Amino acid sequence: MSSNDKIYKMILLGESGVGKTSILKKFETGEYDPHIYCSQVTNFIRKDIKLPDNNSRILDIWDTPGQEKYRSIIKIFYKGANAFVLVYDPTNEPSFNELRIFWYNEVKHINSVIFVVANKCDSDEKVVKDEEGKEFAESIGAIFVSVSAKDNIGISNLFEQIAQNIHNKNWDF
Ligand code: GDP
Ligand code: MG
Repeated sequence: MSSNDKIYKMILLGESGVGKTSILKKFETGEYDPHIYCSQVTNFIRKDIKLPDNNSRILDIWDTPGQEKYRSIIKIFYKGANAFVLVYDPTNEPSFNELRIFWYNEVKHINSVIFVVANKCDSDEKVVKDEEGKEFAESIGAIFVSVSAKDNIGISNLFEQIAQNIHNKNWDF
């Protein structure tokens, strides 16, 4: 890491229980813990992400709690964010509705890269189809990705795509 390397910031957002902490933990340590943990108000890890072109990008990945009581507090951490990852659980329809109604509205005015992520793709109890997630992502100019923190599907690829898209974006207005 040289002092010239820019450090990018990305934030995981979405309802409580969609799997934000599990995604981060899987990416950080390769572990998955089926017990629900209570997220600290916020918490981040710094990762050097290798890209296919052999370069790497440094990403600070922030986890947040989704409960309503924390919503005003976590806004403080939006400052300087380059990417927002809006996570929902396709087995839980309200988590998708809240993503469209509440979470997207939180970030839509911020100059950033947005990802819409359906976690728990391992589950066969999906009530929200991937097509719906994809359609919503397209309607807001975001990128849709389906992952499973439990079965480690698409997790490292997700962070690679985020790093790549942050890097490619022209940050000048
Ligand atoms: P958070 O509140 O968004 O941080 O969600 P957590 O990471 O605490 O996960 C909430 C619950 O969903 C836990 O019981 C996890 O074990 C479960 N979970 C997380 N990711 C997955 C996944 O990929 N598949 C399945 N089936 N369950 C998951
Ligand atoms: Mg959490």
